[in-house]
Amino acid sequence: MGWASMEELRADLVSCRRCPRLAGFRESVPVRAAFRGQDYWRKPVPGFGDLGAGIVVVGLAPAAHGGNRTGRVFTGDASAAFLMKCMHAAGLASKPESLSKDDGLVLKGCYITAAVKCVPPGDRPTREEFQNCAPYLDSELSLLPRVQSIVALGHLAFESITKWAERKGADVKRMEFRHGGSYALANVPTVYACYHPSPRNTNTGKLTAKMMTSLFRKVVEESNRREVRPLQAQSRAARWRKAAKGRTSSGWSGQGRLRPHL
Ligand code: SF4
Repeated sequence: MGWASMEELRADLVSCRRCPRLAGFRESVPVRAAFRGQDYWRKPVPGFGDLGAGIVVVGLAPAAHGGNRTGRVFTGDASAAFLMKCMHAAGLASKPESLSKDDGLVLKGCYITAAVKCVPPGDRPTREEFQNCAPYLDSELSLLPRVQSIVALGHLAFESITKWAERKGADVKRMEFRHGGSYALANVPTVYACYHPSPRNTNTGKLTAKMMTSLFRKVVEESNRREVRPLQAQSRAARWRKAAKGRTSSGWSGQGRLRPHL
């Protein structure tokens, strides 16, 4: 299964009910007291960001009161706050917070998505649910022709990206989740492993803002050094014509190289 454009993919995605357990859960998550009176999104959550991105950040799945509430992945919860502070410090986001779909946040040279697009109970999708959702992730990555680097947040997102790399023909035997680890494989962008910015990791000091910002800065620098290595089989001229159109889902043109705030 594949989609010709990100718009078409998103249009299909938001009504997907391929996983009955997850469709039921996203629609029945109780409203948290702090958000009483708000309308929760309660649908699959598409990725967002710069369609000319050189870097893709992949999480596991939307959070019950984050993406499942706001309709944008890594938006409106503690993980999102931590992540965006670090991405902003590394020059990948226009502001250090991610609060709602209409907060004016713009990602620069970066796109964020999740391996599974619906919130899972206990943050644990089943193997079948990962498989069901894989075509969306595969297509999203195929529709981002300038990607140089993929940052997987947490070991389950890393496993999903490892399986994706294997589907693309890469030799993934060496891949093993280790914070800060990077894997340059044939046929796919370089994959980086990062601890997930969940409160469980950030409140205990397992992941600090310094650690995450430093990893993002390294990814930006290394992405800028690499040649364009697209996922799609198209000519270099065609890729650059497409990139030069500068159409993005966030309004940022995406042209030019990534520039970290150092
Ligand atoms: S997790 Fe993915 S495949 Fe399953 S219902 Fe949600 S969008 Fe559809």
